[in-house]
Amino acid sequence: MQKLQQLYEGKAKKVYATEDPNVVIVSYKDDATAFNGQKKGTITGKGAINNRMTNNLMRRLEAAGVPTHYIQELNDRETAVKKVSIIPLEVIVRNISAGSFAKRYGVAEGIVFDEPTFEFSYKNDDLGDPLINTSHALALKLATREEIDLIHTYTMQVNDLLKGFLKEIGIDLVDFKLEFGKTAGGQIVLADEISPDTCRLWDEKTHEKLDKDRFRRDMGGAEEAYEEVMRRLMGEL
Ligand code: UDP
Repeated sequence: MQKLQQLYEGKAKKVYATEDPNVVIVSYKDDATAFNGQKKGTITGKGAINNRMTNNLMRRLEAAGVPTHYIQELNDRETAVKKVSIIPLEVIVRNISAGSFAKRYGVAEGIVFDEPTFEFSYKNDDLGDPLINTSHALALKLATREEIDLIHTYTMQVNDLLKGFLKEIGIDLVDFKLEFGKTAGGQIVLADEISPDTCRLWDEKTHEKLDKDRFRRDMGGAEEAYEEVMRRLMGEL
């Protein structure tokens, strides 16, 4: 598979065209950003880890019946995926209180919920990705009701599956963000990435943070945390 012209550069990935109009190549960078791009840095080795971890999880989700954009891992940093138009909704699920939930509602981090929460942010950097509800998303024509229902169904399946995969390796899935896209044929598929950049992952025993909060909160040890998740998930680096 040949990389042609660059189509897009985001905060953590670049996207390239290929000879096939329905296939693009994503290339993961080591760049890290937080707080809507206000904080910038590098987590060495992150690109390769996020690429391989995302692909490992997407393959397992696909096998369990969740349609994804994944096609083929090309090398450490690059993967061929179906070309989709991204639905501009960040889909966030929480199993345990943390981050903006704890801040917004004035509660401690670490409260285990009886049921997962489900929310959307409007994916719009200029507006700072504001919280949005389904009726607002419909009013703005960001997706149809059928698409939103499907996204909800897939997302809850992903939560159950991911929680299980991670529990096997001693990690609690605190919260995470998903993005969905629409293929040329109109199919809704899971897109973007599933990595310590987009999930909060806590060691089940020590509650040590194994995710991007180490970078966001200047805790140090981000590289080691990403490597630790990778080692537990894939048994190697
Ligand atoms: N998240 C993300 N990208 C974003 C915002 C959030 O991947 O632009 C992830 C984040 O890593 C966490 C979950 O979504 O796992 C919930 O994030 P939260 O709303 O608590 O926001 P944050 O505290 O990250 O600003």
